[in-house]
Amino acid sequence: MNPVNATSLYVSASRSVLQCDPRDPRALAELCKLLPFFRQSLSCLVCGNLLQDPIAPTDSSCQHYVCRGCKGQRMQLKPSCSWCKDYSRFEENRQLSLLVHCYRKLCLYITQSPLAPHVASAASNSPDLQAILSEGQTLAEGETGSRGRFLSL
Ligand SMILES: [Zn+2]
Ligand SMILES: [Zn+2]
Repeated sequence: MNPVNATSLYVSASRSVLQCDPRDPRALAELCKLLPFFRQSLSCLVCGNLLQDPIAPTDSSCQHYVCRGCKGQRMQLKPSCSWCKDYSRFEENRQLSLLVHCYRKLCLYITQSPLAPHVASAASNSPDLQAILSEGQTLAEGETGSRGRFLSL
């Protein structure tokens, strides 16, 4: 199944990042609202981290994803989802891997753009955003080491 939510959140988040004028508090607020949603759509339901080698149910549109390494483990879903209970129907999802890759790039872009200090100051009253920024920093640092892997996509 196509990761519809993650895809459309990617489109909105990128647009809001690229068009954001840091002097416009409304645009900044929009960006700071979208980013956690986008990150959330790419979370593993088992470990809560950004998806690694994402797998997705092939016969359900419930949009519940896990890392390949987390397959078989209990999802943190309340109530549990009856559509994707069966892990044997989960398969590698390339579109999701690409979206995770795009998410990393977007974080990297923000940390290196003039938006960075503005987003950081907005994060001071949003734990969600703070977590994203510190994760983004780590992703950015790991970027050079993992470049080879991304080329093989
Ligand atoms: Zn996981
Ligand atoms: Zn599900």
